[in-house]
Amino acid sequence: MKKLIAGNWKMNGSKAANATLVQSICADIGSPKCDVAICVPTIYLEQVQTLLEQASNASSVIALGAQDVSQHASGAYTGDTAAGMLSEFNVHYCIVGHSERRQYQMETDIDVAIKARQALSVDITPIVCVGETLREYELGMTQFIVKRQLDALIHVLDRQIEKVVIAYEPVWAIGTGKTATPKQAQVVHAVLRAQLRNATDKADQIRILYGGSMKPNNALELLSQPDINGGLIGGAALKAADFLDIIAAA
Ligand code: PEP
Repeated sequence: MKKLIAGNWKMNGSKAANATLVQSICADIGSPKCDVAICVPTIYLEQVQTLLEQASNASSVIALGAQDVSQHASGAYTGDTAAGMLSEFNVHYCIVGHSERRQYQMETDIDVAIKARQALSVDITPIVCVGETLREYELGMTQFIVKRQLDALIHVLDRQIEKVVIAYEPVWAIGTGKTATPKQAQVVHAVLRAQLRNATDKADQIRILYGGSMKPNNALELLSQPDINGGLIGGAALKAADFLDIIAAA
């Protein structure tokens, strides 16, 4: 299966910095063997859409992604962004349920699943994040937690589960420089794959990304695991050279 490397810029950037970063990535990306996406702050979607269109070939090589979507299609939800609005900016992917949103915005498994359903309603592919906190990891609860998170998604999406991308992100590895070892990550990915197989006969076509301090120096080994089908990249996606190295590894 073709791998996916998706950058998550989080709440970073400025008009000037975005232009430099996108232009640097586009200048050297060539024709990657994997799919590539950059998930940018909502306010910059239009700017980055334009930057990608201006760089020759880039809008066909790099897909645009958002970092969150409303659970609702429209209405009195101040500050939210509807899936239909995202699709007006050629958004192809949308991260949902990132651990930072689960933690700071108290998003529940069901909230996340409903957001994924909203994205799918306008043909945006949700990148649904699952993963255990450090405390849960230390208590040996990793598999219990990720299964619970994926279960809610399967329950809400039913047959549409085959259209999502899953990202396993151990929370203790995000932005910390600590990475799950390739073997540790593979064990969890295999658990998720088995759960997907119980839900759909297309489970082997569903991409399961790894995220959590993926860098140029560990990307190849992580991406070589049989059930790791790409990466969700935070910090390293803000440096063109690092992001390009990870794309090359994939
Ligand atoms: C992320 O934010 O999804 C992430 C994986 O961050 P980092 O690569 O910085 O750990």
